[in-house]
Amino acid sequence: MLQISPPHLSFASQNEIDSFTNCLLASQRILCLVGAGLSAASGIPTFRGADGLWNTPWGTQHRAKDLASPYAFKTNPVEVLQLYSERRQQALSAYPNPAHYALAQLARAKPELLTICQNVDGLCERAGHPASQLHLIHGSLLNIRCSVCDYSKHDTSLEPFVPIVPDLPASQLPRCSTCAGLLRPGVVWYGERLPDTVTDAIEQWIDSGPADLIIVIGTSLSTFPAAEYIEDARGESTRLAVINTDRDEEPCNGMREGDWFFVGDAAVVVPDILKTAIQHFEK
Ligand SMILES: [Zn+2]
Repeated sequence: MLQISPPHLSFASQNEIDSFTNCLLASQRILCLVGAGLSAASGIPTFRGADGLWNTPWGTQHRAKDLASPYAFKTNPVEVLQLYSERRQQALSAYPNPAHYALAQLARAKPELLTICQNVDGLCERAGHPASQLHLIHGSLLNIRCSVCDYSKHDTSLEPFVPIVPDLPASQLPRCSTCAGLLRPGVVWYGERLPDTVTDAIEQWIDSGPADLIIVIGTSLSTFPAAEYIEDARGESTRLAVINTDRDEEPCNGMREGDWFFVGDAAVVVPDILKTAIQHFEK
């Protein structure tokens, strides 16, 4: 009987999607690296580029990026916490998109899959991605921690963290109930170390053998240490799939024969290329 494949959108040929699906079904050790492009369709602004969040003014700063450092927090805590209060509200008011849900379903079906997430918006976890397989290398806006002691809490309340009003006195900033130190978002700022627990878990996964398949969604492969993780996890027979709106975002060492590059919005491409495999797992 003639098998008619379901129609796919125009970002790839049916052959490419079929070969990717076959690889996905056969793969156990899957490493996913996700970035801002995954959440773009949820309305979370991207950072880089002329229109990116980091290059837009905030408060008295020409670029919001200048507030994402321990030095800025020390010298200008009011504007730093107001910026992060705004970003928290934005993340908590957004919803996971079909790509977050498809990735979470894939993770549940493939217990050896590991996702390295560069986003701090909490949308992967809200889509039901198993936490044990999700490593937030840049932390999370949904975590609030003390800048002095070890106190931290997971906080999803929509209440503004800090009021965004002009000339807010520093005395009104939130403080730790244990040591009275200033509270701060649980994200990694420029110049800060990535959390040891996260890097240890990723390195342990990579050290236990090459990945069968690496899937890179909505992120540049030129950022450290993400690019290094991808190279380290890539063995002779590891296949690579990249999903990006920009065809130029190739890994530093290039694509190999048999790799896939799907050009388009992650919210459209990811659910479509994972669809057949997910239907298979649900049988
Ligand atoms: Zn404290």
